[in-house]
Amino acid sequence: MSKIICSAAIRGAHKIVVQAEEKLQKTIEEKGPDATVEFPNTGYYLPIIYSMTGIPVKKLSDCNQVLKEARDLLPPIPRESNHLPYLGNTLDAGMATLFAEEVIEACRYMVGPNPVDDIWLGAADDIILRERGIEFVDGSAPGFAAIVGAAPTNEIAVKIARQLQEMNLYVFMSASTDGKTFSQQLAEEGVQLGWETRLVPFGKEITSTIYSLGFASRAALSFGGVKEGDYRKNLLYNKNRIFAFVLALGEVDDEKYANAAGAINYGFPTIADTNIPEILPTGVCTYEHVVSNIPHDKIVDKCVEVRGLKVAVAKVSIPVSYGAAFEGERIRKDDMQIEIGGPKAPAFEYVCTKDVSEVEDGKIEVIGPDLDKIPEGPGVALGIFVEVAGRKMQSDFEPIFERRMHHYLGEAQGFFHMGQRDIIRHRISKNAFAAGMRLEHIGTIIHSKFHEEFNSIMDKVQITLYTNKADVEEKLVEVRKAYHGRDERLKGMTDDSANVFYSCTLCQSFAPTHVCVVTPERSGLCGSVSWLDGKAGYEISPTGPNQPIEKGKLVDPALGQFEGTNDFIYNNSNRELEKVSLYSIMADPMTSCGCFECISAMLPMTNGIMTVDRDYQDMTPCGMKFSTLAGTVGGGLQTPGFMGHSKFYMSSKKFVSADGGLARLVWMPKALKDEIGEMIEATAKSLGLEDFLSKIADETVAQTEEEVVEYLQKVNHPALALDPMI
Ligand code: SF4
Ligand code: ZN
Repeated sequence: MSKIICSAAIRGAHKIVVQAEEKLQKTIEEKGPDATVEFPNTGYYLPIIYSMTGIPVKKLSDCNQVLKEARDLLPPIPRESNHLPYLGNTLDAGMATLFAEEVIEACRYMVGPNPVDDIWLGAADDIILRERGIEFVDGSAPGFAAIVGAAPTNEIAVKIARQLQEMNLYVFMSASTDGKTFSQQLAEEGVQLGWETRLVPFGKEITSTIYSLGFASRAALSFGGVKEGDYRKNLLYNKNRIFAFVLALGEVDDEKYANAAGAINYGFPTIADTNIPEILPTGVCTYEHVVSNIPHDKIVDKCVEVRGLKVAVAKVSIPVSYGAAFEGERIRKDDMQIEIGGPKAPAFEYVCTKDVSEVEDGKIEVIGPDLDKIPEGPGVALGIFVEVAGRKMQSDFEPIFERRMHHYLGEAQGFFHMGQRDIIRHRISKNAFAAGMRLEHIGTIIHSKFHEEFNSIMDKVQITLYTNKADVEEKLVEVRKAYHGRDERLKGMTDDSANVFYSCTLCQSFAPTHVCVVTPERSGLCGSVSWLDGKAGYEISPTGPNQPIEKGKLVDPALGQFEGTNDFIYNNSNRELEKVSLYSIMADPMTSCGCFECISAMLPMTNGIMTVDRDYQDMTPCGMKFSTLAGTVGGGLQTPGFMGHSKFYMSSKKFVSADGGLARLVWMPKALKDEIGEMIEATAKSLGLEDFLSKIADETVAQTEEEVVEYLQKVNHPALALDPMI
């Protein structure tokens, strides 16, 4: 370990703490000590400070205490001739830096310069955290790279970014080198920035590096069930679960050193392209903390190696880049070569099961003209007809294969995938076309991804692409018939008719006691795992997160308790939970991890429950915003009166059926009503509730619990006539 880096980090930390004290002083003078301090729309206050110290900073004056803690952490600046300081000093300086920077950034939200400006996004709110956090849970994003500074040229910047994207990593960007930032370099080259493409420009100041580490801290609180103030657990969680590293480009000054020291606390190493002193393994980590002087064409590989990332990059041989980060790329009208589907252009994608003898693996056929013979513009007809075969393939799995195509095709750079079945609308960009992309490559992607993902159930796949309108129309007759047959089969499936349910324990990597019990009438709370998905998941990976649960003896039909599910919960929750009711929010409700699409909460005065989805950011009648509610129910706990669930579950006849069912639903956001109202109304009708949707209050008629009660009385809501909830 070098003494130079320690001196530099400690010097940097001192400078930043002084800066924070000055900024806070000025902000207090301008706004007063009682002014509210916050990052937008979050339940985690200033997240690094909150997670490490437990202090919920709410008012400016709260920051004084935080900066005092930062001061206390600051080691004295060592003189170059002094004895080598041990790493602990550097780590403390790093933590002090992060506290101070969070105060600075929070003050910027109040008195400027506003962190959100131009291309800069500033703090990620809780909606983003949950949406993106789930990708860290299911492994679709293995981690993040925090890029500090700028590359020597735009070209190098783009290369590094694309490499990181292809590894499905998030790229968090902050700070500058000689006034230039990495984000600007990408923007100048026309690269699309934003959460969708995983290229996230946090800010141009070094202080905005805290948004990366704050994100990591919140992941631990939100998904890991780590309690605020438990800094040790938080840091360990990050070291073990979040595969992140700092990529320092260009000159590393004292302030950047100080931030690198902050990151080392989390177990995130720094890899630099310049010649800075290295810090080698110590007790905290088994790998290097700072690795320097790495050439640009090797730097991404080096980062991955040092942090021990296991990135499985499947090579899909097509002429454009391929990876999850490209799924979020939009293709504007002016940039598109063709658009598939639309009003006068029949189009579909369809997967069907065939006998092994009927399928020739890897056969890709384009019947009709390919892209080079199709005139530029919208209105292109296309039928993507996929035939699969395999000893373990079941026709029940077809919709799952089909739905995955959305991701698989969208992950090709320059291919925008929208819709499913016979309502698709895809775009292919001019750039992709120029790079050599053709329609046959749709087949290439499907062939290699299906094999990669479904190898254990599928042996062969062949793809036929119809591009003549008449052919597509003809095929559509057969295909629509098949869609219809499928829907009918699914509709007939109920919990009572199924002998097995499926577990999903994918989120245990973040919430160790959480188990989703997935049934035909209740999908996983994240909304992306249906009973069929669970079934297919088990076939695909027999030791994976989806396991069959034999229902076993009925314990309580109303609550939906079975011996089989209770045993499973007990054995798979570290023996912390004994029982789970599938149909009750009040008695032993299902646990919640952090990925729920919606949260329901009892509203005692109304004799009913309200449901809020994560897109709704305002206050709800229960007195908590979604973000606060999420903190209450998450982390793998059973919280009677509260429950996370999917949107789909709301249209189930089993929705809190033990507690009175859908008739209990008294409030939900207007936008959610618009989105799933039709489904709810249909279920309500079948339960004998007439004109039910309009009786559910929303924010346009009621914002407080009292107002909800008034509304219920006005419309004579059925919840009023139900038995008391408690
Ligand atoms: Fe996580 Fe449940 Fe979704 Fe599985 S079904 S990914 S456990 S939320
Ligand atoms: Zn989850």
